[in-house]
Amino acid sequence: SKLANMIAAGEVVDRPASVIKELVENSIDANATIITIEVLDMGMQSIIVTDNGDGMDFTDAHLAFNRHATSKIKDESDLSHINTLGFRGEALAAISAVSKVTLRTRQENQEGIQVEYHGSHLISEGSATLNKGTVVEVKELFFNTPARFKYIKSDYAERAAIIDIFDRLALANPKIRFTLKMDDKTIKETYGTSDFYHLIDQIYGSKMTKDMTIFEETVQKIKIIGYLLSPQIARSRKKDISIFVNGRYIKNYRLIQAVIDGYHSYMMVGKYPIALIHMEMDPSLLDVNVHPQKYEVKFVNESMLSYHIETLIKEALNKKTH
Ligand code: ADP
Ligand code: MG
Repeated sequence: SKLANMIAAGEVVDRPASVIKELVENSIDANATIITIEVLDMGMQSIIVTDNGDGMDFTDAHLAFNRHATSKIKDESDLSHINTLGFRGEALAAISAVSKVTLRTRQENQEGIQVEYHGSHLISEGSATLNKGTVVEVKELFFNTPARFKYIKSDYAERAAIIDIFDRLALANPKIRFTLKMDDKTIKETYGTSDFYHLIDQIYGSKMTKDMTIFEETVQKIKIIGYLLSPQIARSRKKDISIFVNGRYIKNYRLIQAVIDGYHSYMMVGKYPIALIHMEMDPSLLDVNVHPQKYEVKFVNESMLSYHIETLIKEALNKKTH
């Protein structure tokens, strides 16, 4: 229902950056290799995400706006081995409940389709001309929820949140070419080369990978890869410690602390490293169905993981300095 969609919207989309996250995750799930994000007025005027992914057929394009309509899982047992970023079928329904959305999509060798929803109401549908893939345009976010509209923080905060999300999505998906444009200006882009030196330089600025330490270990069937930027480049915020599991950026305070502890003897007080930890593991070892934004992930054996991460970082940094 419309009301249920608006309630869900509060959980899934709290600001422009979370709309971008959901749209881009859908593009990734649709196997896109090129994803462009265009934002006007910090996303409050419009957010357009264009991908060259699989696209949708007519039925899916309509179903996509229904709550709990997902093409990604079929039954409950699938929940224990999720390998797509989306699975709750909430995002498009939630976004369209609080904005004006135009979806254009085309599958290979099929006709293009356009569907338009304003605040959960179907406004128009028809054919469209576009390349294979999907373009989702979200306009006037929170136009019908003044309370949420007011809650949006300063332009500065929204801009920072958008860039943060972009960085994480790009760092999680090195093989995808991402472009972020804000008010018609290209702010950041990556080249989809899967070369981490290049990628990290594109995200954090050139020469940041000077003295980067990399480790790769498999412990108890969990592959852990660390990209440890030099302790010399320290930040006063913890935010540049990023943890990824099976290509998903996650928040897990225990593992972030493990990274901080691993760097401990090389860091000045109050400073934090820039580091990426990528893990690959059997999806049954984690639970991503904790929160609608799917950031928080629970691990079956968190202590073991945090021990290994801290130790691997210590060993890698130690090797580097001796
Ligand atoms: P979820 O991602 O959890 O399945 P969403 O509401 O984000 O739910 O999307 C609903 C459905 O719409 C997806 O399951 C998928 O079938 C389709 N979809 C959304 N965005 C895209 C896209 N960019 N390309 C192809 N299909 C998409
Ligand atoms: Mg989704």
